[in-house]
Amino acid sequence: MRDLFRKFPDDATAEAWIAGIRWPDGPECPRCGCTNVQHPTAHKTMPYRCRGKGCWRFFSVRVGTVMQDSKLGYQEWAIGFYLHNTSGPTLRGFVQDRSADGAMVYSDDHRAYRGLPHHETVRHSVAEYVNGQAHMNGIESFWAGLKRAYHGTFHHVSAEHLDRYVCEAAGRHNRRGLDTLAMMERMVAGMVGRHLPYADLIADGPHARKRDAELAGIPPGHPF
Ligand SMILES: [Zn+2]
Repeated sequence: MRDLFRKFPDDATAEAWIAGIRWPDGPECPRCGCTNVQHPTAHKTMPYRCRGKGCWRFFSVRVGTVMQDSKLGYQEWAIGFYLHNTSGPTLRGFVQDRSADGAMVYSDDHRAYRGLPHHETVRHSVAEYVNGQAHMNGIESFWAGLKRAYHGTFHHVSAEHLDRYVCEAAGRHNRRGLDTLAMMERMVAGMVGRHLPYADLIADGPHARKRDAELAGIPPGHPF
C-alpha cells in the first residue's frame, strides 16, 4: 500500500499515468480523433484542447471514460484501478498486511485470493453463497453500512483518514445488536478519559490508531 501511494503521490502523477495508458501515442481528441492537441491549457479541469479545424474542444483524460461524471480525484481512481487489476501476490500481500496474524479471511472465490494461509471461500461462480462460517452476508451488511455512511454522512473520505472512517463503521457494525440506550452507554463509557483535539486527530501515530481501534471495539493487535 505504501508503494502504491509512492507510485501515485498526487492527482497530477496519477493523471499522467492514466493519460499514458489511454493515449500511448499522445493525446487524441475524444470528439474528432484529431491528434493535434494543445496541452496544457489555461482551463483548470480540461487541460487538453483539440486543434482540429472546427472542433476546438477542451477535454480531459476523463472524457468518454467511466471517470467522466465522477468527483473522485485521479489518485483515487488510479489506486482503485490498481487494486482492481492487481495480481494474486499483491492482493494476498495487501490482505495479509491488513489482517491480524492468524485471522481467518473469508472471501469469494476470486482466484487472486488463492494461497492465503487462513482462508475459506464461497463460490459465487457456482451459486454457492453460504459455506459454514464462510459467507458474504456479514461483510456485505458491513459494506452496506459503510457505504450508507459515506453517501449520507461523510461525503468525502480522505485516504489519510480512511482507517478512521472504517473504524467508525466497524464500531457501529459491532454494536448493531444493541438497543439505543445500551449503545449510548457504551459510547459514554468509551468517552471517559478521551479528548481528541484537532491537532491530535491530524497527527498520525500509533497512539491515535490504538485509540480509534479501542473506540471501535476492535481487538488489540488488529492492524486497523
Ligand atoms: Zn477534436
